[in-house]
Amino acid sequence: AVPLVAAISTSVSAKHGLLVRNRTAFENARKITTIVFDKTGTLTEGSHEVMRVVPLDAAYDEAELLRYATAVESGSEHHIAKGLQRRAKADGLRVPASSDFAYEAGVGVSGTVNGRAVRAGGYPMLERTGLTAPAEEQETVDTKIFIIIDGALAGFVTFADRIRKSSAGAIKTLQNNGIKCSLLTGDNERVAAAVARELGMDDYMAEVLPEQKQDKIKALQAAGEFVAMTGDGVNDAPALAQADVGIAIGSGTDVAAETADIVLVDSNPNDIVNLILFGKATHRKMV
Ligand code: ADP
Ligand code: MG
Repeated sequence: AVPLVAAISTSVSAKHGLLVRNRTAFENARKITTIVFDKTGTLTEGSHEVMRVVPLDAAYDEAELLRYATAVESGSEHHIAKGLQRRAKADGLRVPASSDFAYEAGVGVSGTVNGRAVRAGGYPMLERTGLTAPAEEQETVDTKIFIIIDGALAGFVTFADRIRKSSAGAIKTLQNNGIKCSLLTGDNERVAAAVARELGMDDYMAEVLPEQKQDKIKALQAAGEFVAMTGDGVNDAPALAQADVGIAIGSGTDVAAETADIVLVDSNPNDIVNLILFGKATHRKMV
């Protein structure tokens, strides 16, 4: 039999957009001292509208660069891939077929397009390939992916994402309740700093790989923090599993939802506030 107070709290949680997958973690939510937020798709919408398409090699014009980028991303379900697909469609581009698709979480994708080896990813991908970005291009704030064709830098594409309307209020309320809010992202330093500043977060870390997200949670736990992690991607799954309370965004990937203890059905960061405050109220009734 389910204790009455717990049963009531579960129906209350449904009303507040929370799908509880792990009852124990749900009941422990009142103990949270730190929340680590993934950026892309969690605090932001993941809208990823293509802003700039910039060839860096005279062999490619904008349309050709977009064709290669969209083709190599066709096996990806990342917001970046979806943004490219929308743009290619709007421009009426014919996207070639691709094969040998591979994805390295937090780094980028690779594959064969028109018989050529194509890669698309952020700065870590560029470094691994032994290439460097044009200096002035390290100054911008948008999310940027570089397109590498047969080992040479062909160009880059930038994307604008929007911060969710509810993110700022959620973070402020959590901080007012004594909870520390950190940002952890695989995206580049400038984007991470801008989002952390705009949302008034306590700290941030950029260009973090999936295993490093998990290590970061472990380090906080070792320092005595009771840690919640929120995320939406495949790359967030190890950290969601490691956290004392793993929270997935409803609009995110199935892998994240299946790994998490709680799912935010409406993808609203404000529902985390309800989770914690209701957890506290329910606990008071039980003791
Ligand atoms: P976050 O940790 O904020 O959710 P992600 O881990 O989703 O961000 O992405 C981090 C970075 O990894 C991206 O900014 C990009 O540089 C790279 N990346 C991830 N997936 C892809 C992809 N499909 N194509 C190109 N780059 C990718
Ligand atoms: Mg994400």
